Amino acid sequence: MNNKLSNEQLIAAASAFGTPLYVYNTEKITEQYNKLTNAFSAHPTKLFYACKALTNINILKHLKSLGSNLDCVSINEVKLGLKAGFAPKEILYTPNCVAFDEIKEAVNLGVNINIDSIAMLELFGNFYGDSYPICIRINPHIEAGGNYKISTGHIDSKFGISIHQIRHIVRVVKTTKLHIQGLHMHTGSEIKDINVFLQALEVLFSVAEHFDQLEFLDLGSGFKVPYKEEDRETDIVSLGQKLNVAIKEFEKEYGKPLEIWFEPGKYLVSECGYLVVNANVIKQTTATVFVGVNSGFNHLIRPMFYDSYHKIANISNATGAERIYTVVGNICETDTFAWDRVLNEVREDDLLVFYNAGAYGFEMSSNFNSRLKPAEVMFKDGQFSLIRERQVFDDLLAGQVAC
Ligand SMILES: *Cc1c(COP(=O)(O)O)cnc(C)c1O
Repeated sequence: MNNKLSNEQLIAAASAFGTPLYVYNTEKITEQYNKLTNAFSAHPTKLFYACKALTNINILKHLKSLGSNLDCVSINEVKLGLKAGFAPKEILYTPNCVAFDEIKEAVNLGVNINIDSIAMLELFGNFYGDSYPICIRINPHIEAGGNYKISTGHIDSKFGISIHQIRHIVRVVKTTKLHIQGLHMHTGSEIKDINVFLQALEVLFSVAEHFDQLEFLDLGSGFKVPYKEEDRETDIVSLGQKLNVAIKEFEKEYGKPLEIWFEPGKYLVSECGYLVVNANVIKQTTATVFVGVNSGFNHLIRPMFYDSYHKIANISNATGAERIYTVVGNICETDTFAWDRVLNEVREDDLLVFYNAGAYGFEMSSNFNSRLKPAEVMFKDGQFSLIRERQVFDDLLAGQVAC
């Protein structure tokens, strides 16, 4: 099973809905979801889809139909989740540096809440005491992920409460009588080495000993998916086996069962997504052949923001002679998607596709250069459906006040 959309399918979608176009294959999401649930079936485990990767409400509904829960990082994501049909208890709200008012709003909505600073723990404890169980986000200071920019576990990270502050945490919890039902950590993205998760689990075990009302340990995410041909995804099957051994052992010590929670984003929705663009201009300079496409970092910013690699293919001329191109966007800012990429010969008006565009693609798009955001299309039950209209000129004026 690979659940890859074919060139013909992507060309058909582009001719029906225009370009630039985001296309999501729900069958790939289902495949990834099932792989995770199978890998962790030996121990009670809950998956919370980290929806900041892709929040289209139809994608949220699809994940809900699979049995997923939802991880949210803003109160608006929480509200989108509720709108998509998730029950409050199926939502985990993991904010960072938000005002207490936003946390109070989350309490009123009845969702699970993750607290990530001592100051907020104190405020929350003084206000709610033991009346609203919460989870604490710990920073275990485990370096994780191939990319420093998306690592959250390092010593200077703004995320979580340092493991070295455990005595302070315990003091605040005791004095304010907080009910701690879970411990959380999320050390970064694209973690290949499963030992990072196992080390992190050991750290959570050591913190868990300070609390006797725990119901779950949340290991966040960071599951890697392949972006390049030679990339491997995180070995979740052996992670599942090792985790099962470790947690069973710890439960004996702890004296009560503990669920494991995960918050996969990229793993569930990266590979389901395609960004289809049009080659506007082929421009030969003294040193390079540029392909200028009708997109830019206003639609897909990962290559420029994180130096991420996205595989690109010419789907209009898949058997053409291979040549070397530099693929750039059409906005007035340096927006190079890829240098020196081998593509089948690109002619004007050929369609190119960016793979792995489901996670942090549309979601990080903007209206820079007063360009419009692409449409989004979902492939489900053998059919393409429009799930977000392409923006129109009036969208740029919406909300502006003439005076
Ligand atoms: C972003 C985020 C995730 C998801 O990370 P991926 O690398 O997309 O899997 C999970 N948990 C939290 C708290 C996050 O901020």
